[in-house]
Amino acid sequence: MIHDLTLDVETGMPTCGTPWHQTVEITQMGRLAEVGRNTSRIVLGSHSGTHMDAPFHFIEDGITMESLDVNLMWGRAVAVDMRSKGAGSTVTLSDVEAIDVSERMIFVFGWYHNWKTDRFYKDFPYFETDAVEYLIKRGMKVMALDTPSPDDGSAIKEKGETDSPNHVMLLKNGVLIVEYLCNTDFMENGKEYELVALPLKVKGSDGCPARVLAKDI
Ligand SMILES: [Zn+2]
Repeated sequence: MIHDLTLDVETGMPTCGTPWHQTVEITQMGRLAEVGRNTSRIVLGSHSGTHMDAPFHFIEDGITMESLDVNLMWGRAVAVDMRSKGAGSTVTLSDVEAIDVSERMIFVFGWYHNWKTDRFYKDFPYFETDAVEYLIKRGMKVMALDTPSPDDGSAIKEKGETDSPNHVMLLKNGVLIVEYLCNTDFMENGKEYELVALPLKVKGSDGCPARVLAKDI
């Protein structure tokens, strides 16, 4: 079976609320009754809904979406059950030392159940920086999450040392970050799935919405 881990892209879908994230607007242009076809105008942010980040998101000379390695976007991924990590908790070094690290990893918190509630962007679980460092050293190249970010959401600053250290480290090391997965309930700890995470190929972009699928194998 193939599972769709992608949020619906729709007008007014939540963003993290910072002024540098666009809200989604979809408006109809052509109408079937009038011009014989339906067409629409889709206004997206580069990080709207389920999406992938490119190094350029946080790194001055980082590569952009069209240059990402497509080999990483399709292949076996291991699910890691982090459902015991509730609001405000962190994934620690000892948590990740206990797991087998592979090239593609899906961290399942079940946090997507808070999508479209006030809780979604509040106190979501995130990673301690030494845990991320360990995962990178052990060869993780794709980090997929059903939360908004691997970083502490309460520490977002416009610029500074404490702003998103995990994003910076992951992107510097060429790790693809996939955020805002949903429908992860079926995933079992330590189990492999065939993951397909295909972002739009927008030239020069720091991120792009992606369709993300997982197949039972
Ligand atoms: Zn992002």
